[in-house]
Amino acid sequence: MYTVAQLIGGVWGAGGDGGELVVHDPADGTPVTRAPVASADEVAKAVEAARGVAAEWAATAPAERAAALHRAADAVEAAAEELAGATTAEMGKPLDDARGGVAAGIGTLRQYAELALVRGGRTLHGGHAALDFMAPEPRGVVAAITPWNDPVAVSCGLLGAALVTGNVVLHKPSERSPATGWLLARAFDSALPAGVLSLLTGGGEVGAALAGQEVDVVAHVGSTATGRSIAVAAARTGAKVLLENGGSDPLVVDADVDPVWAAGQAALGCFANAGQICVAVERIYVHRDVAEDFVDALVTRAGALTVGAGRDPGTQLGPLVDRRHRDHVHGQVTAAVAQGARIRAGGALPDGPGAFYPATVVEGCRHEMALVREETFGPVAPVVVVDSFTEGLRCAADSPYGLAATVLTGSMSHAQRAWRELPVGTVKVNSVFGGAPGGAAQPRRGSGQGFGYGPELLDEFSAVKAVHLEAPGGGHW
Ligand code: NAD
Repeated sequence: MYTVAQLIGGVWGAGGDGGELVVHDPADGTPVTRAPVASADEVAKAVEAARGVAAEWAATAPAERAAALHRAADAVEAAAEELAGATTAEMGKPLDDARGGVAAGIGTLRQYAELALVRGGRTLHGGHAALDFMAPEPRGVVAAITPWNDPVAVSCGLLGAALVTGNVVLHKPSERSPATGWLLARAFDSALPAGVLSLLTGGGEVGAALAGQEVDVVAHVGSTATGRSIAVAAARTGAKVLLENGGSDPLVVDADVDPVWAAGQAALGCFANAGQICVAVERIYVHRDVAEDFVDALVTRAGALTVGAGRDPGTQLGPLVDRRHRDHVHGQVTAAVAQGARIRAGGALPDGPGAFYPATVVEGCRHEMALVREETFGPVAPVVVVDSFTEGLRCAADSPYGLAATVLTGSMSHAQRAWRELPVGTVKVNSVFGGAPGGAAQPRRGSGQGFGYGPELLDEFSAVKAVHLEAPGGGHW
């Protein structure tokens, strides 16, 4: 059992007056983590303490900060197996996927450590004796509020980018993965000056208390509803808000692709991490010409997945994060069936312990069903048959979200139309996952605002100061 401690003002084990929370293994319901809950007073004190060291960290030479981030990456690497194990125990991800998440996090830290050194600003020459330059500066105090579904990769991105650009950070990991957040904070803290990183644990109320503080940036990765309430809180304090939120990513399958290959892509997009990926495929628009073969192949794929606890070798489909979430997933599936959709695979609550949900294929869906329009975040493939690529694209674009989208097509002109017409941050052609490391992501609509990844995130955590220099009296220097 993990026993989590908070890190406030450089002191491990501080606070916890808000009580205690217990995390249960979603595979069998056994308790795995005990974590303190920060009180509102502790949150305020943590922000004050962080503010106290902000100027010193901001004044540290960029090369020194980059070296610290490299050391943090080394420490995360040394704790990689422990971090992956904690992720799997707390939220159920298959162990190999959890290892992949840790490796991605380490890669991001190293990338930011390298990039931070070569950043600069523009210069302008307004006249013979006049020069303007633009210097990036740290924004100050950053609150990073993160989710459970890929806890190490997501947190490394935010923490790495914020720290290396000279900000101090208060991290509030998800209440469903606090031990993972705690192990990560221990690794980072071993590489940083005391107080530069703080760790606050607890649920949404702790996140809300943090988002309501006088911080300079609130960076939230999580659900759209939470992101919106954070934006409201930050509007009162003037903090900058970065939101990487939910999605309902479409997959458009064109008439000219091999339906069996397309089903393999769909299965990966819908069932990896039990569908609990922000850019999971959440709805499928398949051309009528290939629909039947596509659905048959998808049903075969769904039935072939190895189901088990995340820690069991060979598991491809682990449990959902908890039963509350399983109820949400199953509720959307049963509502679609009540509206006329048909289950072709899965769709029933299994007996036994844990929060398992089967890989589910639902055909006969319509674009307006909640299963199609809303984020499900489960291993569910809702299939809508369309009569043309244009219809598929139109449905794909018609969404309250704007995270990412995939099209499978052999037509270059259809691919071009997709990336021009879809109002999303990322368009993928012929591959549901697999963007280059360091790729940017700038969500639209209900999926958030600001860059959440890539070198652009370094800019998000920096404020540019424009400096105008002119010789005295309009003469020469
Ligand atoms: P969530 O928003 O419920 O929780 C995320 C974090 O916000 C947690 O630390 C939580 O305690 C905190 N929080 C909850 N209520 C809060 C409040 N009122 N004020 C401040 N903080 C609060 O999300 P989740 O269930 O942990 O994660 C799943 C969601 O995250 C999905 O919607 C998924 O799409 C999204 N996600 C998005 C991305 C992306 O890059 N766009 C990446 C991963 C996950």
